[in-house]
Amino acid sequence: MSEIVVLCEHQNEKIKKTSLELLSKAHDLAGQLSGKVIALFIGTGMEPLVSELGLYGADSAVLAEHSLLDRYNTLGYAQAVCQAVEQFKPSILLGTASPLGKDLFPRVAARLKTGLASDCTDIRLEGGKLIASRPVYSGKAFVDVVFNTPLQMATTRPNSFPIKTLETGKTAKVVRLNLNLSSLRCPMKELGQGETGRVDLTEAEIIVSGGRAMANADNFKILREMAQVIGASVGASRAAVDSGYAPHDMQVGQTGKVVNPKLYMACGISGAIQHLAGMRTSKVIVAINKDPEAPIFGKADYGIVGDLFTLVPLLTQEFKKLLAE
Ligand SMILES: Cc1cc2nc3c(=O)[nH]c(=O)nc-3n(C[C@H](O)[C@H](O)[C@H](O)COP(=O)(O)OP(=O)(O)OC[C@H]3O[C@@H](n4cnc5c(N)ncnc54)[C@H](O)[C@@H]3O)c2cc1C
Repeated sequence: MSEIVVLCEHQNEKIKKTSLELLSKAHDLAGQLSGKVIALFIGTGMEPLVSELGLYGADSAVLAEHSLLDRYNTLGYAQAVCQAVEQFKPSILLGTASPLGKDLFPRVAARLKTGLASDCTDIRLEGGKLIASRPVYSGKAFVDVVFNTPLQMATTRPNSFPIKTLETGKTAKVVRLNLNLSSLRCPMKELGQGETGRVDLTEAEIIVSGGRAMANADNFKILREMAQVIGASVGASRAAVDSGYAPHDMQVGQTGKVVNPKLYMACGISGAIQHLAGMRTSKVIVAINKDPEAPIFGKADYGIVGDLFTLVPLLTQEFKKLLAE
């Protein structure tokens, strides 16, 4: 009962970075429990994905392969996860707090009649039991969640843990799950993909966001230029989105996306509580604002008081020089 199952998300024949982070964390936890890490894959054509898994600490890979699951399907995935749990009886089940994880895990928890700590920023063990730390009240406080069910389930935010590779990788044993999906009522026929080539904000390591101060959609190009140089994704405040300067999928905050990057640069954003709710767990926050009293400075690690239309192009030039060295 010391197995840890990690649901690994994959896209375009690659394991998502967020799942590698979680495998690394699971490897640490399994070491403390003298347990094993099982990487669970759901979908089709996953065999090539498992060759490097051992490097990230997985002891085995369980493939739940089925033609009806070549695209994400809530009911089918829930069945696959529940079946894996029944078969391997783990003490811990982990997933990413991605759109997929947020949709899937509550259903799995209900089916398995077990507790779920969702959207956590840290997990650890105390006395062999999982403790999951998650933000509450729009990120103003953190609670430690403990479980009173044998299965302990948590989803964690992207960028919460570093990816560690083992010096001597193991070879993960491959096990196939015999899935019976005859009762699947709603197979997914089609999944549309947005045109953007950007890393989704929820997974981005660096985000440059613009607020109402951007004044129009065209002005976002100075943020895109900086983002391109430093490998960032571009976000926006709700005021910028509501004003039509940026699409809603770029909105960060309570009614937008919750992000957890290593670096968040807020440009011309005042720092309203609803914006902070979406980005306050960022590791480093930099604010550029011409008002020295702007509330964002109360949350920022580094603040620059000045006009963003002067400062952002200057920073872009400096980043270019530094990165060229
Ligand atoms: C229920 C609810 C949900 C909400 N959800 C969200 C959400 O998900 N995300 C979100 O962001 N907001 C959300 N809001 C809105 C939120 O309350 C704020 O109105 C919004 O975040 C303000 O956006 P802003 O900081 O871009 O604009 P403002 O508050 O207008 O701030 C603009 C800032 O730009 C600075 N500035 C102006 N010109 C320049 C310049 N040239 N250079 C540098 N700085 C300059 C100003 O000093 C100011 O601080 C929500 C509100 C409600 C009621």
